[in-house]
Amino acid sequence: MKPVLIVGGGPAGLEAARGLADIGYNSIIVEKNDFLGGKPIEEHYSVLTPDQTDAETAMKVKIDAVTGNDLVDIRTNTTVLATDGDAPNMMVTLKGKVDEEVVEVGSVIVATGFDHFDPGKETQMYGYYEYDDVITLVDAEKMFKDKNFVRPSNGEKPKQVCFIQCVGSRDRQIGNQWCSKVCCGVASQQAIEIRELIPDCRVFVFYIDLRAYGFWEDDVYWKAQEQHKVNFVRGIVTEITQRGDQVVVKGEDTTLGRPMEIPMDVVVLSVGMEPSEGTKAMAEMFKLPL
Ligand SMILES: Cc1cc2nc3c(=O)[nH]c(=O)nc-3n(C[C@H](O)[C@H](O)[C@H](O)COP(=O)(O)OP(=O)(O)OC[C@H]3O[C@@H](n4cnc5c(N)ncnc54)[C@H](O)[C@@H]3O)c2cc1C
Ligand code: SF4
Repeated sequence: MKPVLIVGGGPAGLEAARGLADIGYNSIIVEKNDFLGGKPIEEHYSVLTPDQTDAETAMKVKIDAVTGNDLVDIRTNTTVLATDGDAPNMMVTLKGKVDEEVVEVGSVIVATGFDHFDPGKETQMYGYYEYDDVITLVDAEKMFKDKNFVRPSNGEKPKQVCFIQCVGSRDRQIGNQWCSKVCCGVASQQAIEIRELIPDCRVFVFYIDLRAYGFWEDDVYWKAQEQHKVNFVRGIVTEITQRGDQVVVKGEDTTLGRPMEIPMDVVVLSVGMEPSEGTKAMAEMFKLPL
């Protein structure tokens, strides 16, 4: 039986290889980085839901399941250059650091993942590149990893923090009409981490509507609201400005139908996901819809 080619060695690619090995299939994982693990490793995530397991530890379990497996052939520093034929007879050209190789595979799984939305796009009005205390979920993850959540402008512990949901998602004007599906849960998880690290810090989450499901809803969102007293406010943020040494969030509380203007020490933008460059390239190469 010809092997399955898996493009991308992040959580999805690793799980695909493990699952295939479990039912006795060979696979080849092709990963462009010199390490496996995808975004949780590349972006230094702190802990993973739902158990708050250290991200490196959780990913090591997934990586170990394939690196020690005879049925899985791993090629790091490698990408796909060309493909010829159709399943079950495909000739795929792989490009490593120095040489090229053609492999014969029966099928291909594309697991090339996402890139984070750039909150500095001109359509966005959140001042990400203007104000030090406006950060993203990804910036926040790095601070949680060091167990030190502070205001980037002065290194002090914040007293009031908010999350703004759907930044770069569900926005037809910029062509990103999709919901990124994890940011409501990730923001709730990070809100819990802030309350644990700084118990007297007030935390708000401004959302359009909250989309959490499965464990994200039961074990993360409700826990944030009920046990950790995170304030979830249905509202639309229209602008962020600076006043004194604080950033001011302006918008509308859509439950009460009233304008709101609240000073914050740190604003965390819940940036969404876009197809990665690799995903766009592989979609074109293998003629797949995005
Ligand atoms: C801030 C944040 C926190 C999160 N926290 C959690 C959490 O706690 N729990 C949870 O379940 N989920 C969490 N998520 C979601 C999680 O990160 C994603 O669901 C997961 O990373 C998706 O895995 P993936 O393998 O599809 O993609 P990725 O993680 O993006 O991995 C894709 C891999 O493909 C590789 N690749 C790309 N292009 C090519 C190419 N052309 N050739 C070869 N290789 C290529 C990349 O280098 C990468 O290694 C979080 C997301 C964010 C943004
Ligand atoms: S913040 Fe929530 S509703 Fe918005 S895109 Fe992310 S998961 Fe979807």
